[in-house]
Amino acid sequence: MRQQFVAGNWKMHGSLAANAALLGEVLAGTTATRCDVAVCVPYPYLAQCQHLLQTSTVALGAQDCSVHASGAHTGEVAVGMLREFGCGYVIVGHSERRADHHESDALVAAKAQRVLEADMTPIVCVGETLAQREAGETATVVVRQLRAVTELLRQQSRRIVVAYEPVWAIGTGRTASPEQAQEVHAVLRAHLAQVGADIGAAVRILYGGSVKPDNAQVLFAQPDIDGGLIGGASLKASDFLAIVAAAK
Ligand code: PEP
Repeated sequence: MRQQFVAGNWKMHGSLAANAALLGEVLAGTTATRCDVAVCVPYPYLAQCQHLLQTSTVALGAQDCSVHASGAHTGEVAVGMLREFGCGYVIVGHSERRADHHESDALVAAKAQRVLEADMTPIVCVGETLAQREAGETATVVVRQLRAVTELLRQQSRRIVVAYEPVWAIGTGRTASPEQAQEVHAVLRAHLAQVGADIGAAVRILYGGSVKPDNAQVLFAQPDIDGGLIGGASLKASDFLAIVAAAK
């Protein structure tokens, strides 16, 4: 039985004051949650959030990492550094990074491997653009993105979390219907099951893309949807808590 998981992706939002207020409310509302909860925050706020979360069950995550372990890579942040600040999760391959920073499937896979080596869990994002969906390429695209990771990690693939995030649904207010999302999650799970039956059964696949309090429950009720990666709605405590409450 997979425990459902709701992770907030704060993206490039926040301030010391806003983070303290947001996490104060989130912590007060997550004392008895049934699912796992995490927040993935901007690098400069890791220390603050580590401190604020230290006695809570809400886990801390980062939104990216370097593929390098250390060295002359100005501006990059190594997985070892993220670990030192208490991160349990690192998002890799978010569509904004794939698009804005030309991150390839191979680079995303190598980052996922680095995250595992540092004893954290990569949240591996996959998803098609609107043009790819309209061309009937959704399954091909998402399986290609995931295969790059599973081929590199093999049996270690059981330790990842996958997030299906259709690019056309991120930050747009357009959500995949529960049927559309379930169809793609089933394709992803079938791919994982080819890597190993236990891997297909164990890996959590989150849905992301304009998840809100009013659509979370029906999305999370789909058999292959194990929770959500939440962008905009994770910045408003009442919305994030309502989404967490919708998880099983
Ligand atoms: C995201 O950025 O991962 C995301 C899902 O964003 P939103 O919920 O705002 O669509």
